[in-house]
Amino acid sequence: MQPFNCIIIGGGLGGLTLSIQLAKQGFGVALFEKETYPFHKVCGEYIAMESWNFLKSCGLNLDELELPKINQLKVSAPNGNFLTHQLSPGGFGISRYKIDYLLLNEAKKCGVHVFENCKVNDVIKQDSLFTVFTNNGNFSSNLVIGSYGKRSNLDIKFKRKFIQNKAKGLTNYIGVKYHLKANIPANNIELHNFKDGYCGISKIEDDKYCLCYLTTAQNLKNNNGDIKEMEKNVLQKNPFLNDYLNNFESLYTEPLVISQVNFSNKTQNENDVIMLGDAAGLITPLCGNGMSMAMNAAKILSELIPQFLTNKITLDKLIYLYTYKWKSTFGTRLWAGRKIQSLFGNEFTTNLLISSLKPFPFLINNLVSLTHGNSF
Ligand SMILES: Cc1cc2nc3c(=O)[nH]c(=O)nc-3n(C[C@H](O)[C@H](O)[C@H](O)COP(=O)(O)OP(=O)(O)OC[C@H]3O[C@@H](n4cnc5c(N)ncnc54)[C@H](O)[C@@H]3O)c2cc1C
Repeated sequence: MQPFNCIIIGGGLGGLTLSIQLAKQGFGVALFEKETYPFHKVCGEYIAMESWNFLKSCGLNLDELELPKINQLKVSAPNGNFLTHQLSPGGFGISRYKIDYLLLNEAKKCGVHVFENCKVNDVIKQDSLFTVFTNNGNFSSNLVIGSYGKRSNLDIKFKRKFIQNKAKGLTNYIGVKYHLKANIPANNIELHNFKDGYCGISKIEDDKYCLCYLTTAQNLKNNNGDIKEMEKNVLQKNPFLNDYLNNFESLYTEPLVISQVNFSNKTQNENDVIMLGDAAGLITPLCGNGMSMAMNAAKILSELIPQFLTNKITLDKLIYLYTYKWKSTFGTRLWAGRKIQSLFGNEFTTNLLISSLKPFPFLINNLVSLTHGNSF
């Protein structure tokens, strides 16, 4: 088989949107995804409005989908004290099950070679050609993009530095997600804090709601590794979560759970594999902006990669330009996200923070805009 122009590892929002943008420009693109679509993912499923136009340029007819538009934020402290805030421009709700699948279909229509149920196990570069080793054979290409998410077998294979930063600071979190029947207003996103974590809830498609929380692995350990016990002993101390977890009907028998979520700094390139989305850097989920960052970075790459594939710039130059652009676009957001997350971690400071922010909506605006960008 001829080498592909570009191989993309991981078909989340970063990988799928990049594959579409490159295929539309006429390049031969292969995308490898270890799962089979459609499938669920742990994610709050609130997409900031800044991505709207880009998603449309990837072929999604968002207007037709009649998705809930979200422009009202409610944040509560563990003691139940809360503030509300108008979000401008806000965002919209759609499940990963749905949006990833819609993008997959667009990618196929554009001619992307999609390999599902195909896990990449290693990448080796020799001279200027990459060989990608998968459980379905080996493939070669001129360029490889790692858009394989927060944590993958490849991080270990590449001996990435952040994997070695064990159990310190923002390094060991778990994420839990439910789809529910609920009755909170369709334009609301709520963020309820509890000891060492927070839980978001907002509407997605088909009258369903996504409830998703992040907490420390230690919190779960303290509750015998039992999610229900932790929810009862910790989350339900917040009166809102007590109400929701007792009364909203879950649409899964068990929640989806991920572990080893790590917010340490990452590099945007590893052994000449260019990193995209969460593989390049993970923003704390309370910012509600990780998906937009992944897609924004895909757009940046879709403008730089053609210069490399048409021999206008070298691989080194491509990596330099991308890293520079990535850091200047997302550096402040990642920094602000970490700071905000550390303020919300502690019960006492969260209670204090909510009471102090309540009378000063402009401060809340500043916090939100520090972690968001413009339409791209
Ligand atoms: C608890 C939580 C809540 C969140 N809530 C929100 C929110 O409300 N709004 C928001 O904007 N962001 C949110 N985020 C962040 C958001 O989910 C991510 O930033 C986003 O999914 C990143 O997209 P991605 O394409 O980089 O990775 P992913 O969507 O994770 O895709 C990576 C893909 O790579 C595949 N893969 C992994 N390894 C391999 C391999 N070796 N071979 C082949 N395939 C592989 C995986 O199966 C996966 O499909 C949240 C994150 C967490 C943890």
